[in-house]
Amino acid sequence: MDVDTRLAEDWVRAIAAAVEREHERLTELDSAIGDGDHGSNLRRGFTAVLAVLDSPDSPDSPDSPDSPSGPSGPAAPAPDGGPGALLTRTGSTLISKVGGASGPLYGKAFRAIGAALPPPGQPPADAAGLGEALAAGLRAVRDLGRAAPGDKTLVDAWTPALDAYREAVAAGAGLPEAAAAAAGGAERGALDTVPLEARKGRASYLGPRSVGHQDPGARSTALLFHALAETTAARAAEHPGEPA
Ligand code: ADP
Ligand code: MG
Repeated sequence: MDVDTRLAEDWVRAIAAAVEREHERLTELDSAIGDGDHGSNLRRGFTAVLAVLDSPDSPDSPDSPDSPSGPSGPAAPAPDGGPGALLTRTGSTLISKVGGASGPLYGKAFRAIGAALPPPGQPPADAAGLGEALAAGLRAVRDLGRAAPGDKTLVDAWTPALDAYREAVAAGAGLPEAAAAAAGGAERGALDTVPLEARKGRASYLGPRSVGHQDPGARSTALLFHALAETTAARAAEHPGEPA
């Protein structure tokens, strides 16, 4: 399965839908060990991301005047900037619209994922290529936030997600299977933050009182990997004959 522009867009839209569905839960988790804004922060961010995707100026929008199906008719080819550009733009939007720790962290992560994908004109990333991009995303989070595994942050979901993804690819899995493994890893990682004491971010101000609660950012990272699993499974179901 190729990581093409549509796959990237479907992934981002699936994350936005998950945030819309789960924002109250994220805010509830952040109320216990933070300032109760994680759900609303991400909701604001992904609402803005959807607005960019849907804007007539967006090269990915079906309404774009440059789109073959857009107002200018079939003559003009769609200027497809590729999946990398779409994810980079998603990151930039998150950085500009989301306050708090998670905006810059997720923003940089998406920008790094976008930058790690091949530009248009080169062969698209496959499952292994996306794994490298997801690793670049985690590196960006760690460079900015300086959190290590065990600090009770989104790093604790992203790390086992990436490990599971890479293990699956190494064992010969295609993208949907690797993404499903990643979602499982992220889910376990998020649940495993419950007994941890926070050492980074606002929750660290609580010290031992942060123990016994799931980290909100680890939960939202699990949503992100579940969305990737959903999107790639849906694509595989659409094209049953294609290699995964
Ligand atoms: P804020 O803490 O500024 O209110 P959010 O509530 O949106 O921002 O996000 C909180 C989440 O951000 C935390 O649950 C944690 O997962 C993540 N986070 C905070 N600081 C860091 C850090 N230094 N490195 C990685 N993740 C972090
Ligand atoms: Mg918060």
